[in-house]
Amino acid sequence: MTSQRARCNRPASTAKDRNGLVFSSFIGRTIITNTPRARANNPASIAILFLLIVSTRGWGEVRPQQPLLRKPYRVLLVVEKWSDPESILVDHEKDRFQPVAALLKAWSVPFDILRLDEQHLDATYLIDRSGDIRYGSVIWLADLPSYKDQNIAALAEAVQAGTSLLVAKSRFLDPTLEALVGAKFRQEYTATDPIRTTEPHFITRQLAAEGLNALNTNWDFATRFWIEPQGAKVLIDQAGHPVLTLNQIAGDVSTIWLGVPEISLLRDSPYWREIFFRSLVCSLEYLVQPDVDYSHAIEIEMDDWGTADKGFLSYWHYLEPNEETLREHLIAPLEKHHAIFAANVITGYADRKTKRIVSPWEQKFTDSWGLHQDYASTRRGLLDAVAAGVLQIESHGWDHMETDLESPPGPWWTADLKGEASADGWYSEFADHRRGTEVPAIVQRFHLQRGLHFIEKDFGQRPLELRPGNGGWSKSQFNNTGRLAAQLGFGIFHAEPDFFYYLDHQMVLDMTGISPHFTTGYDRLNTLQTDLKPAHLDGPVMVVFHDRDISLRPDFVESLLDALPADYKPISANQYVGILHTQIESSSTAAEWQVNFDDEDPYCAFFEKHSSSWRLWLSDSLREKLANLPSMRLSIDKEAAKAIRPEDLSRQPFVIDVPAGLGRHVWRLDAAR
Ligand SMILES: [Zn+2]
Repeated sequence: MTSQRARCNRPASTAKDRNGLVFSSFIGRTIITNTPRARANNPASIAILFLLIVSTRGWGEVRPQQPLLRKPYRVLLVVEKWSDPESILVDHEKDRFQPVAALLKAWSVPFDILRLDEQHLDATYLIDRSGDIRYGSVIWLADLPSYKDQNIAALAEAVQAGTSLLVAKSRFLDPTLEALVGAKFRQEYTATDPIRTTEPHFITRQLAAEGLNALNTNWDFATRFWIEPQGAKVLIDQAGHPVLTLNQIAGDVSTIWLGVPEISLLRDSPYWREIFFRSLVCSLEYLVQPDVDYSHAIEIEMDDWGTADKGFLSYWHYLEPNEETLREHLIAPLEKHHAIFAANVITGYADRKTKRIVSPWEQKFTDSWGLHQDYASTRRGLLDAVAAGVLQIESHGWDHMETDLESPPGPWWTADLKGEASADGWYSEFADHRRGTEVPAIVQRFHLQRGLHFIEKDFGQRPLELRPGNGGWSKSQFNNTGRLAAQLGFGIFHAEPDFFYYLDHQMVLDMTGISPHFTTGYDRLNTLQTDLKPAHLDGPVMVVFHDRDISLRPDFVESLLDALPADYKPISANQYVGILHTQIESSSTAAEWQVNFDDEDPYCAFFEKHSSSWRLWLSDSLREKLANLPSMRLSIDKEAAKAIRPEDLSRQPFVIDVPAGLGRHVWRLDAAR
């Protein structure tokens, strides 16, 4: 990415900008004076002065050698602290910043996290060795004392060079931060007056269109921050207390302050989520988001294919659905409804006769209830569904059993099925529910690897999702099942009942709060409409049922799909994993703007044969800038570039269709200047 160089601070150097003002530097701090005699020595006035200087630059003017866009498409999320000493796992119960990290991931915005409890904020993180800024926007969620000894001047330098700043739930008690925000904290307050939009703006435009120029806060006695504007424009106000302020530093650089009472509201309140989303578009100038109506998207999974217990547990006893049942009652309705389900499969069968874990697909017997179990037929049915393109094979673990079946209170192998062997804890694989302990990492890794190996062998599929049996998973740092699954290449992890993780090799990100999930069944369909609520704009609702439901009510799949509201669309597990893992990069030269979509194997395998689409949101200033170009041509990959009118690009959001195929896809806008 080419971007404007940050001003380089070398000791004892001075440089004259176009306004004739002098920048001089010493000890890493930029001092700006309008006359050599009137040197400012108060940090606040220093910062205000440089902001004034920066803001005098004309946005409309485009020098031929400048790139169309100077800001990197990447965000730095500055947080006070992070519970994970390894800085990999984000936990919604422990990390206050989780809602924002989850939203950034859901919006496919590339981001890094800077934790003030371990890192010292300075230019190292903000300015590249080339002198270019590293971030298009910094999201600041920190409050004192976390930034007491940080180098805020470096942040001001980055802002000066083009990095926008988005401050939420912070009193910004630092003179330089105050100058950047263009306001000053006064006191805390409580009020229940409505929150009102004060003037039309891009950030509040959609809320206005939805009739939300005022938000009722009756009975909301939250403690809020009262700030006094000192140059910033107030866009939303509550009885004389600014709630949203904007300090437009240059056409493409702004500092926005969000007076949100709690960070979690950015995720949980549609009002605040909309303000945060559009503030981020303003901050970055544009945003490329998955083109999915998640509020009407549903991801559907089926647990327990291949498990042994259905052949001997009195309370979980049924016939494993065979090939014919699956053809008629799974494949046909899925084809009819154009839906793809996930089958969470077990490939290790706990065989009480041999006291070994064996292949499920060789089990053919009549159980003690007289049912003729034929697991080979089940496997053939699942393979047919995969071949028909309506089923994805995912991992339910390996054997759905305790990893130690022999120690007390076992051995389970010979325990009475009416007594000890029926105890629910024996059927949990990644947490030892029977003995009330975790499962050591090495044991879990062995089971996860067995599961992966045999799913590949039995189905020729690479599972990207893990949903462990019995909602059993281990949470401590070294045994954390999500962390282990991420190391093995899983893309998402359902940690029931209260967690849901995005996984990659650098991050185990709790997305809880974005995708609601619930369990349904043949005897629970009457609550489906209630279970679907509340939907979230940024993640599909996720529902799981069991092979048991098809066994006990063969038309269950048809009934479930029929019971869904007409405007709900199924989204498959691997499609969702592919979307979350698509890497978006952007770069720009004087004549071109390029957005890359990188779909890497294995996470994005779904897109090998499926296209994807993305919403491109543009800030008003960028739309204006593009509208002033004499002509524009658009292309994707190697297709011929087509002329596009500014008004077409300005239609919001503009949809980018990315063709099927793994690897890099390139969307390119060529501009005549
Ligand atoms: Zn299960």
